[in-house]
Amino acid sequence: MKGNDLNNLVLEDGANIAVVGGGPSGSFFTYFALDFADRYGLDVNIDIFEAKDFTCSGPAGCNHCGGIISESLIQTLSTEGIILPSNVIRRGIESYTMHVEQGTTVIKTPLKEQRIASVFRGFGPRGSVSEIYDSFDNFLLNLCIEKGANKISDRVNEVSRQPDGILVKTKSSFEKKYDLVVSAVGLNKQTYDLFRNVCSSFVPPRTTKTFIGEIYLDGARIDKYFGNSMHVFLLNLPHIKFGALIPKGQYVTLVLLGSDINKKVVSGFLASRQVRDCFPQGTDIENQMACQCYPSINVQGAKSTFDDRVIIIGDTSSSKLYKNGIGAAYITAKAAAKTAIFNGISGREFKKYYQPVCNKLDMDNGVGKFIFLATGIIQKSVALKRGMLSMVISEQKKAAHQRRMSSVLWDTFTGSASYKDIFARFIHPKLILNFLRHTVEKLFTNKPKNTI
Ligand SMILES: Cc1cc2nc3c(=O)[nH]c(=O)nc-3n(C[C@H](O)[C@H](O)[C@H](O)COP(=O)(O)OP(=O)(O)OC[C@H]3O[C@@H](n4cnc5c(N)ncnc54)[C@H](O)[C@@H]3O)c2cc1C
Repeated sequence: MKGNDLNNLVLEDGANIAVVGGGPSGSFFTYFALDFADRYGLDVNIDIFEAKDFTCSGPAGCNHCGGIISESLIQTLSTEGIILPSNVIRRGIESYTMHVEQGTTVIKTPLKEQRIASVFRGFGPRGSVSEIYDSFDNFLLNLCIEKGANKISDRVNEVSRQPDGILVKTKSSFEKKYDLVVSAVGLNKQTYDLFRNVCSSFVPPRTTKTFIGEIYLDGARIDKYFGNSMHVFLLNLPHIKFGALIPKGQYVTLVLLGSDINKKVVSGFLASRQVRDCFPQGTDIENQMACQCYPSINVQGAKSTFDDRVIIIGDTSSSKLYKNGIGAAYITAKAAAKTAIFNGISGREFKKYYQPVCNKLDMDNGVGKFIFLATGIIQKSVALKRGMLSMVISEQKKAAHQRRMSSVLWDTFTGSASYKDIFARFIHPKLILNFLRHTVEKLFTNKPKNTI
């Protein structure tokens, strides 16, 4: 280390970095830190500790996620030299099928070349077998290993501060002192609480429960009933802000986001006509779930996510509200790697260079909360939903740049654009006037049941 002045901590040749957690944020940090160090002519060693095995199916290899990689992230990663291989992509999503109680419409990708990928974060639901496919998290982790990182398949269970470094201990009694420790452990309270020891002012993120279920439905029937379309539901059901069915390989992933989702909320959603109609007649959806869980999601960023020699990134820090969490993990991980390699590893440097990036995400989520409030109001109003549906249906016949409501919905569903950008488009006078026109027109049109 350059000098012992705690206010001027920087990494030097031979420095050791521990990355705890080999999910997207841990892998992105490692990838960029090794890349930046290489460009800077700095020789650093990185150990990534990961407790799961992403080549296993079921919970042992799963990082609980819808597995949608937004088109903006796919494009950003490809400019970074990270190209998702075809054996990681389980399906390329080309459209969104939007369901409300008043009908259904397809929203096509705004630009033809923009493609969303659906992936499995682990090897797939319980019982999955495949000789060709790889998981998203395993792919990223292997990129880091190829770049020179050392993967340690073990659970970290103690982190403590020493006068000249941070001591990391694992379940199988491995221990080593590091110059910098990166916490990329997701939303497991037991694990992120370990870091309070070395990051005294850390205030964890606020979270809520969500639901993920993997519904088995062989490939041919997925082609027939879902194709390359992700189905999104804006139904007036309590606790649910957003429901989605995502086709992947031989499964359809069900994701429910909202507040405090539980078994009763899930059953209510699955019993709705709009959901049942997506599946072959008579499908016993609940009994065809190979896996299901209620993971937490970050709904309000953490505070004080750094200290001397310690930085907290990814979901444990700031994320994007409800959408594109992997894209947000990329943003916080890259900012942390840049600061650590080019600026230093003291709390002061992280505050100066890393904190503003988290603040920007948190501020954008403030706008996001407002957008979800507005969509919540639309979700509860039959008149507004009929207006919105009618507007989207008519827009889909127009040129891409004239599809204002569709593009707002597309970006809200995919998380591809910032909430600030979506909001600016949402309050455009042309969109508002057109929306009102469609709503008023539909108020005076009597249509048969189940249509707008
Ligand atoms: C229902 C739901 C659906 C979602 N859908 C999407 C989506 O479609 N697209 C999207 O972009 N985002 C989605 N997200 C968000 C996304 O999953 C997260 O933002 C993302 O996984 C954050 O990455 P991370 O690396 O910070 O944390 P994680 O992915 O949680 O990774 C943390 C890693 O740390 C490891 N770990 C934890 N503790 C230890 C320890 N003590 N020792 C060693 N290893 C440890 C874990 O095993 C894990 O691999 C969704 C989230 C939820 C809840």
